[in-house]
Amino acid sequence: HADIALYRAKKAGRNTFFFYDDGMGSEASERTLLELDLREAVLRSGFLLHYQPIVDAASRTVSAFEALMRWTHPLRGAIPPAEFIPLAEETGLIVALGTWALHEACREAASWPGDLRVAVNVSAVQFTQPGLEQVVRDALSASGLPADRLELEITESVLMSDAESVVASLHRLRDLGVRIALDDFGTGYSSLSYLRRFPFDKIKIDRSFIRDIGNEETAAIVRAIVGLGERTGATITAEGVETEEQFESVCREGCTQVQGYLFSKPLPASRVTGFVEELGRRAIESGMSVAG
Ligand code: C2E
Ligand code: MG
Ligand code: MG
Ligand code: MG
Repeated sequence: HADIALYRAKKAGRNTFFFYDDGMGSEASERTLLELDLREAVLRSGFLLHYQPIVDAASRTVSAFEALMRWTHPLRGAIPPAEFIPLAEETGLIVALGTWALHEACREAASWPGDLRVAVNVSAVQFTQPGLEQVVRDALSASGLPADRLELEITESVLMSDAESVVASLHRLRDLGVRIALDDFGTGYSSLSYLRRFPFDKIKIDRSFIRDIGNEETAAIVRAIVGLGERTGATITAEGVETEEQFESVCREGCTQVQGYLFSKPLPASRVTGFVEELGRRAIESGMSVAG
């Protein structure tokens, strides 16, 4: 730990001292240190996007990839988004990070084969800034990616505060041709009420429901969400599908898209095209074996 403390103290500036001690392990200073590192990584664009396939359930072919941010800390190694995204949100750094992610995802997706879409997570904090629509427009025009190949994933927290201006902003984004997905559906406090506020193009059912789908009550909830989606014209994606059994269950309940480790973990950008081809081959082979 000594070298970590030294490295951090050096970075924090000459007039700052950190008494780094495992036993005391002050959580607050630990956060401050991580925040400094995050700030520096934003300046040096020290982030990467990985891409997880979203698979069409009927054909078992890829229809989109979700961009997921990755940060490798120079000393601590990979830091999970669950740790650094909330910190970026609290410090406002998510605005710069999110802008970078939109540009990077559009740039990479512009070279993908066919009409594959890219889904980018957008934080509630980004909606509190007036410039989000312009950022999206810039990312599209700089990359040449058609607007209908970009999907924005938002969570219920986006709609919790100042709903009117957010809803207006969502409508303007969709007027550009961009699709809007509601992420982690079912985990918030009043999931259903958010469906009335904006006609989402897609609803992603949270992984916790898929994990428990063997339970008949949970399966009934998933079925009900699918029914809601059909009425409002939204596509339903099941998140976190890990087993064939779960895949069969979510298909039975009517989910038309699936995402999860069963098909693939998030992949580095260089493996996107190869994965699409591989899954396409597998779909053809299983189609032939069914036919034969
Ligand atoms: P999310 O948007 O709901 O993304 C799905 C998360 O579930 C990803 O975690 C993904 O790796 C994980 N996952 C996918 N399939 C499975 C599975 O079958 N089993 C399990 N156990 N997990 C699975 P990840 O990459 O750690 O990201 C976590 C969260 O961090 C994301 O949840 C999203 O809320 C946030 N995040 C990631 N990248 C960004 C970003 O660029 N911007 C913003 N605002 N948030 C991001
Ligand atoms: Mg997401
Ligand atoms: Mg999700
Ligand atoms: Mg999530």
